[in-house]
Amino acid sequence: MTIEWDAGRLDSDLLDAGFDTLAVRAGQRRGPEAEHGEALFLTSSYVFRSAADAAACFAGEAPGNVYSRYMNPTVRTFEERIAALEGAEQAVGTASGMAAILSTVMSLCSAGDHILVSRSVFGATVTLFEKYFKRFGIEVDYVTLADIAGWQAACKPNTRLFFVESPSNPLAELVDIAALADVAKGQEALLVVDNCFCTPALQKPLALGADVVIHSATKYIDGQGRCLGGVVAGRREHMQEVVGFLRTAGPTLSPFNAWVFLKGLETLKLRMNAHCASAQSLAEWLECQPGIDKVYYAGLPSHPQHELAKRQQSGFGAVLSFELKGGREAAWRFIDATRLLSITANLGDAKSTITHPATTTHGRLSVEAREAAGIREGLIRIAVGLEDVEDLRADLQRGLEAVANS
Ligand SMILES: *Cc1c(COP(=O)(O)O)cnc(C)c1O
Repeated sequence: MTIEWDAGRLDSDLLDAGFDTLAVRAGQRRGPEAEHGEALFLTSSYVFRSAADAAACFAGEAPGNVYSRYMNPTVRTFEERIAALEGAEQAVGTASGMAAILSTVMSLCSAGDHILVSRSVFGATVTLFEKYFKRFGIEVDYVTLADIAGWQAACKPNTRLFFVESPSNPLAELVDIAALADVAKGQEALLVVDNCFCTPALQKPLALGADVVIHSATKYIDGQGRCLGGVVAGRREHMQEVVGFLRTAGPTLSPFNAWVFLKGLETLKLRMNAHCASAQSLAEWLECQPGIDKVYYAGLPSHPQHELAKRQQSGFGAVLSFELKGGREAAWRFIDATRLLSITANLGDAKSTITHPATTTHGRLSVEAREAAGIREGLIRIAVGLEDVEDLRADLQRGLEAVANS
């Protein structure tokens, strides 16, 4: 049996396909057995028909698989599907979301380069920039996410890359991606957006002017908390650099995990719509409860960037946070009174989660740094899953009652 990797018949049929069709079909190849083109190729290596075939593949003169650190058909299907969904020329799978960030910076930056990072990024991302990239001669400075003038002011002649997450975790701040892309272009810097919280179902950073998009596929792309993985997407010239790093250094995506993510992508839009609807309903309800000072969710008209969120995203996401009167004691009592929500910092799962950022995800920050980031002791974050929203509301009600009765 031969697999016509470059037949591409279905792909050309998909040129005008909508998001949901691409999420189910993009990257699929037709053939007697490849009709189920998402077959799992759980192999490290490949055989060739002849010595000459092997030589041509190794030399890169003929398409073909050489070794799964280089390429794997299941991983490739996943990469093509993500590229189609993000509107990218190419996508590259990685072992985790962190491996995606590592590979991007390792392949696109060098010692002596200056990188600007938004202050409110994932904890391990900060550690990667602070502890490791700095050690190799990369300069790193931090900027307030929404402050476009601040980004401009922080630029230096050697600024090569901007790194942001929008919306941010846990306070749901946004940056105007198109405006920031303009600043980056003026500096000849690349704008990299970690699109983990929105996924391409809700936000397409490349269409807004970003150069590179990054995902932790571990979250909504999987959607059911099974596998670790990541992906980088963007222009071919940049992705070829990322591929070169991955092939050499090896933080590549497992074919099994890619196969799970392909299944996850088939339901991505349905899931994101359901996550968003429940998050919206809970945010509106929470905002009316006594005992709650403030709710942070871009779907609320009270959110200072609600209009930007409507313009830039097609949904507001599933992560929201709220501030309880009564500080840490109240927050912990609230969390401990819930029975349905999982007490964990994970997100992107069908199961809703609840966490106290000041003592978990942001626990390693100094008190001053936490205060500056707006993460107070009374803050609780929830990542809304796919349970019945009435049951989630009842669970949050238990938390509120426990605090009110204390
Ligand atoms: C989880 C997460 C990451 C890291 O992804 P892993 O798959 O856990 O390595 C990076 N960025 C954001 C926004 C995340 O939520």
